[in-house]
Amino acid sequence: VETTVARTVLAARGLRATPQRLAVLTELMRERGDITAQALHERLREGGAAMGLATVYRTLSALVEQGVIDTLTHGPQLCYRFCSPEHHHHLTCRVCHRVVEILECGFGDWAEAVGRQHGFVDVSHTVELLGRCGNCREAAD
Ligand SMILES: [Zn+2]
Ligand SMILES: [Zn+2]
Ligand SMILES: [Zn+2]
Repeated sequence: VETTVARTVLAARGLRATPQRLAVLTELMRERGDITAQALHERLREGGAAMGLATVYRTLSALVEQGVIDTLTHGPQLCYRFCSPEHHHHLTCRVCHRVVEILECGFGDWAEAVGRQHGFVDVSHTVELLGRCGNCREAAD
């Protein structure tokens, strides 16, 4: 079922469903938080997918470029996540990589106004909120 969904998602973005892309995307769909390329690579190997780390990076880049997956920058290494296609923000736990997608957005008008002040049009924005989730509240940074 997941592979079928992955195929549909790739087709919608005009990407060929190569075995690498299907494997990477399917694994990302199973992840509720976000994940680094290295951790994803390990997980794929454990699952029996023979794919080099360089291939994982290349595949992730292609998916990011086409807007299929998001990158998150809260850690020392870039994290990746399969999110909903609508405009959203990430509320991310610094400790355990739990990610909550926030669909309500209060930044649109503000971003437009700031842009206009400086003569910009078509202003878009990305906002990441970081914190410690309920499970990690007691844990030290
Ligand atoms: Zn996202
Ligand atoms: Zn946490
Ligand atoms: Zn927003």
